[in-house]
Amino acid sequence: MSLTIGRWRIDRYERALYVQRQPNPRCLECMGTGSYYVAYAGDPQADEAVIEPCGCWDPFSSIRIPIGRTVITERYPF
Ligand SMILES: [Zn+2]
Repeated sequence: MSLTIGRWRIDRYERALYVQRQPNPRCLECMGTGSYYVAYAGDPQADEAVIEPCGCWDPFSSIRIPIGRTVITERYPF
């Protein structure tokens, strides 16, 4: 489950929230996609297409906010 507020994306995974800044939608290098091609497919200089992440965001960093134990309030009646 993920939630997006502006440029911030919040994901819940196991017992933590991960907050990550997304690419700038007004970036002139990547046009808001977050990556750009260094070499296109079919380029004789490169064997394959090379895609680099844009400098307007860091896809490998996020803020981790641990959350406490989940309290189960409903139980099966025995
Ligand atoms: Zn960018």
